[in-house]
Amino acid sequence: MAKKVRKHTTTDAGIPVASDEHSLTIGPDGPILLHDHYLIEQMAQFNRERIPERQPHAKGSGAFGRFEVTADVSAYTMAALFQPGVKTDVLMRFSTVAGERGSPDTWRDPRGFSIKFYTTEGNYDLVGNNTPVFFIRDPMKFQHFIRSQKRRADSNLRDHDMQWDFWSLSPESAHQVAWLMGDRGIPKSWRNMNGYGSHTYMWVNGKGEKFWVKYHFRTDQGIEFLSQEEADRLAGADGDYHVRDLFEAIKRGDHPSWSLKMQVMPFADAETYRFNPFDLTKVWPHDDYPLIDVGKLTLDRNPTDNHSEIEQAAFEPNNLVPGIGLSPDKMLLGRVFAYADSHRARLGANYKQIPVNSPQSPVHSYSKDGAMRVQNVSDPVYAPNSKGGPAADGDKYPEAATWESHGDMVRAAYTLRKDDDDFGQAATLVREVMDDAARDRLVANVVGHLKDGVSQPVLDRTFEYWRSIDVAIGDRICRDFKAD
Ligand code: NDP
Repeated sequence: MAKKVRKHTTTDAGIPVASDEHSLTIGPDGPILLHDHYLIEQMAQFNRERIPERQPHAKGSGAFGRFEVTADVSAYTMAALFQPGVKTDVLMRFSTVAGERGSPDTWRDPRGFSIKFYTTEGNYDLVGNNTPVFFIRDPMKFQHFIRSQKRRADSNLRDHDMQWDFWSLSPESAHQVAWLMGDRGIPKSWRNMNGYGSHTYMWVNGKGEKFWVKYHFRTDQGIEFLSQEEADRLAGADGDYHVRDLFEAIKRGDHPSWSLKMQVMPFADAETYRFNPFDLTKVWPHDDYPLIDVGKLTLDRNPTDNHSEIEQAAFEPNNLVPGIGLSPDKMLLGRVFAYADSHRARLGANYKQIPVNSPQSPVHSYSKDGAMRVQNVSDPVYAPNSKGGPAADGDKYPEAATWESHGDMVRAAYTLRKDDDDFGQAATLVREVMDDAARDRLVANVVGHLKDGVSQPVLDRTFEYWRSIDVAIGDRICRDFKAD
């Protein structure tokens, strides 16, 4: 068998180097020379290896795979990736929200569930979570919410007091907090949790008909969770428990998959539905809008360079393709700005040219220049032009995913409808979805969380917050807290 020839080391400019081990010195014992440009390249590159971490969702990992359409939903959307039988390459990233890049995977936290579909009509990103709802419904509060989950100014410690202070002053958080404190608040692995688009989006079919939709990726591995005790143990024993689980499963050929099901609401229903269907703190009950099958997402390839393929991956809910649009969900409309802006800050203006973020379909844009640009631009560099440059085709690609809006400019909460309240769906979750054992764990989880540094008056407000969800649960939390 021919002996494999080992490559020789070069500088980043491809120039062969003389040693991987020794700096250039005056004699073996003498000083290092400043013109040892290979040593300097090594040290300078090393000093710049870390890029700013994501603000939320800093800790995570991901993998590649594909999405295959197994049903026919062409009556609802003309999106190329959702047509019968179509297979689309995907990248997925999972994450925790509040912790930093080195933080343990098993802290109680929602998990990010982000998907980039490399479609024939450009990249489609669905930036979801493992929960169907969220803590707030107006992006004005997002920054404050995330700060309350991260670290204090004085001690640089995470602080349950500020978490419950924010939550108990923000009653719209009740549904998501009840969900988070329950079993699903610490999944056993990323493979054992569902993913939800959470927001309401719009689908548009080939006839221009519009529908409101919600995405549900149901795990084919089954839902499994960790107890608080097991999660606490793992946080010390193996902080990368979820990263490792996904990587090793894919490596041994155990490819995780999720079945995509949708809830579809006829466009006109939104006007008269009993609560605001665009409120991100609420689900659409399955009885009202049952799930319909769409397809299967499978992950089967690990990254080979986690930094360039996962850390530099940029998911943004503004990456929408023909046949898919936004909705009047204020959180979604805020995220459409915030995500792309964070990528510009974190990765630079040309982050879409990093291979993992580049579409598989051709790009014909007029963007040019900027730091780290690697793809050439050519004249003409402006539009309109008479020089043969790209021209928008509004007949083929109209601005289709639109809705009507009117009213004065105000800073106000959504208009309340009959069933719009902050606690009703949290109450349904606690009373009707959880069984006795799950409710016991919920109470224990909340009491344990409150014991970790929550002070008055936050405590009393928190007991009332839980009584507003369910009087019996609130009373138990108060009693158990005081009993211990
Ligand atoms: P259903 O009885 O049809 O649905 C209940 C859903 O709750 C299940 O389908 C499952 O979602 C989810 N679930 C089960 N156990 C837990 C748990 N321990 N923690 C969190 N979620 C759990 O009733 P409705 O559709 O009327 O919803 C009732 C409540 O269920 C809602 O208020 C909401 O809190 C919760 N829920 C509803 C979802 C929806 O989209 N309608 C989605 C998730 C939760 P899944 O099938 O997605 O695994």
